[in-house]
Amino acid sequence: MRIRTKLMIAMALNILVFVGVIFFVVRPYFIEKSMEQDRQTVESQIASVKETLANRKHMLERTLVDWAVWNDAYAFIQGKNDSFVSSNISEASLDNLNVNAIMFLDRDGNVHYSKFQKASLALSASEQEAFISEIATRVKGRDGKQDAVYASEYGPVLYAAHPILRSDTSGPAQGTLVMLEFISADFIADLSAQTKLPLAIGPSEAGETKTSTQDGWTRVLIPLDLVFEEAEFGVTFVVEPTHYRNTVTMLRLGMVALLVLGVGLFLSLFWTIYHVVIRRLMKIVGELKQITIERDSRLRVSLNEQSQDEIEQMAASMNEVLAALEDTRAEVLDKAYRDALTQLPNRLAIEDYFSSVRGDHNQIGVIGLDLDNFRRINDQFGHRTGDAVLIYIASRLNFYKEDGFVARIGADEFMFLHPKWTLDELRPVARRLMRDLSDWSEMNGVKGLTSTIGLDVFASLHPHHTYEVMMGRLDVVLHEAKLSGKNRILAFQEIEDGSHYLQTLEMERDLRRALENDEFELYYQPIVSPHPFAVRGVEALIRWNHPVKGQVSPGLFIPIAEQLGLISDLGRWVLRQAMSEMKGHAMRHHLFLSVNVSKRQIADGSFLAELEDVLAESSFDPHLLHVEITESDVGGNLYELQQFIQSLKTLGVKISLDDFGVGTSSLSFLQSLQLDLIKIDQNFVKGIPENTFDRALLEGLYQTFHTLGLDIVTEGVERPEQLAFVLEHSSSLIQGYHYSKPVPLAQLEHYLKKTVTLYDW
Ligand code: C2E
Ligand code: CA
Ligand code: CA
Repeated sequence: MRIRTKLMIAMALNILVFVGVIFFVVRPYFIEKSMEQDRQTVESQIASVKETLANRKHMLERTLVDWAVWNDAYAFIQGKNDSFVSSNISEASLDNLNVNAIMFLDRDGNVHYSKFQKASLALSASEQEAFISEIATRVKGRDGKQDAVYASEYGPVLYAAHPILRSDTSGPAQGTLVMLEFISADFIADLSAQTKLPLAIGPSEAGETKTSTQDGWTRVLIPLDLVFEEAEFGVTFVVEPTHYRNTVTMLRLGMVALLVLGVGLFLSLFWTIYHVVIRRLMKIVGELKQITIERDSRLRVSLNEQSQDEIEQMAASMNEVLAALEDTRAEVLDKAYRDALTQLPNRLAIEDYFSSVRGDHNQIGVIGLDLDNFRRINDQFGHRTGDAVLIYIASRLNFYKEDGFVARIGADEFMFLHPKWTLDELRPVARRLMRDLSDWSEMNGVKGLTSTIGLDVFASLHPHHTYEVMMGRLDVVLHEAKLSGKNRILAFQEIEDGSHYLQTLEMERDLRRALENDEFELYYQPIVSPHPFAVRGVEALIRWNHPVKGQVSPGLFIPIAEQLGLISDLGRWVLRQAMSEMKGHAMRHHLFLSVNVSKRQIADGSFLAELEDVLAESSFDPHLLHVEITESDVGGNLYELQQFIQSLKTLGVKISLDDFGVGTSSLSFLQSLQLDLIKIDQNFVKGIPENTFDRALLEGLYQTFHTLGLDIVTEGVERPEQLAFVLEHSSSLIQGYHYSKPVPLAQLEHYLKKTVTLYDW
């Protein structure tokens, strides 16, 4: 998940939690609080209404008591004070008293005097009389003080009554004074003004104060009998939920504000994170990807010099890692690309160098130096001397190279590339190298140290002129130079015309068609046990009957077939052909059949697969089959080779090591290969018996191999003296012209007929 997405989710969760807390914790808390406040308001308003009503009652009572407990009134009700009314009761005095009517009832409850405020109700005289008598009836029969609110025909009426007493409150009571007030709109307005509440009055049963709530509004009903002794009414009012409303509004506003703030915060945070972190991270990731794709260890993540923040630090650290990797790579490359002895770059390095300069220069000057008889120098003067020669050549090459490139490309082969030099520049260097070498050998008493030098000016922009072609041309010149007598300098340009090189190119073309055209043939060379004479086996050797050139030697076309990848097809053909041709003879004469296999066939598995098939198909005895692997090929992948040999052993097939002595394998290495037979290369035999050195070498080899219990074949025995030497020092088998050249099948059959004892022919 991307940071952006994670950020969004985190923000969304935060907002959710925040809103949740506000909705389920903060909001209820404030609302509850505000409702509580509203309830308290209602309570206090109820109290205030009650108090106002009580005050009203109290005031009425006071006025009432003032008038009722009064000698003048006492006398008046007894009929003794005639001026009472005129001197005390008037429209104005009623107004002052704040009552609508006043009534004096005598001891029997009959109306003695009554007076209505005119303005209060426009009642007719008879209506007033009826009303007065109605109140009188209500008051009558009840002693002492009383007050009530009752529903009269003209609306609710508040009245209070008090016994009329002397001023000193002594009795007996001479009647009752009643004061009444209409609970009119004015009365209610007055009350509302005092309580600051929109009061209303309505019929009500006696009882407790009642409250009911609807939509937050509280409706209060205060029955008036809570204040007055008797009442059929109650005061009602409705209280607005002010606190609640304010709180809700405030919360709403607060939420909106918070939301705006939150969104703003989120956007600014997002913007910052996006621009400061994500965008730059993505840029770094992009650059790293590019680096991965280009695989150029010199590339770095770009840095922002102005910034010193963590991302910059991270980018800088990445660059450090890249630099460290580059160093490591350089070290590893250096090891892989450098020859340990001379400290010169190796063959791999030259390929690299070639590709790096190829595009920029239309031609490259090439010098290839090959020591002529390095093995002999090594053998004769010891490896230290050999090493010293190599190191010396390396130092001379370095000395001449200027801005060229020098490498050791083989045991005794060196190469020098210069991107600008032509033959005129190459040749003097080649000559000086040769002179240096002869000087050195003279100074160090190393006789016979010469070299062959090949030169080439290679048109490197030519599309087909690859590294392989350059190396191939160098091989050709060196080969050509060696053929014409070593210790010389030869330029490719001098041999190009009609050269072996062109033949090689032609051969490539022809080889591809040769298998289809059935141009190959197998020759067989007997391998014999000399004393007593017996043919023990034959080696199958391929021949190419070229339609134009005639017979071509395998020494020429086998390497090319290997290069072209044709060797596997060729090898398959050889195996099948040899087994089918030799099967009868092998069984009849108990001869082994020896077949050559090259490195490439081992590596690609083609030989083994074919062998398994052909053994399964034919009844060829696997014990009579020998597979020859060449010693100089063996150096490669030891594990792979051991696997190959193991597989052959499992099939029952024997393994011969061919051309022993050409390569450089150590004995212990050879031992780890579980070989059955060693074929000593013909070069060892060439100098026999004249060359003391060769004699000693060969003798030593025989001893070693006998001690190791290995069977031996000595190759290249041509002369009787050579045979005599071999016989004297070994029990080796022999393969050589002395007995027979490789011959076509028919001739071999003839040979066998002649040599093998009659009974088994
Ligand atoms: P090799 O396996 O060492 O075969 C022996 C070579 O020495 C043969 O050369 C043979 O003609 C030659 N020879 C035998 N006795 C004498 C002798 O007394 N004096 C001299 N001067 N030479 C002798 P050839 O047939 O030209 O083969 C050359 C090489 O070609 C073989 O060397 C082998 O490495 C390769 N080769 C031949 N046939 C095959 C094949 O079928 N498959 C593969 N992979 N390589 C083959
Ligand atoms: Ca061979
Ligand atoms: Ca050989």
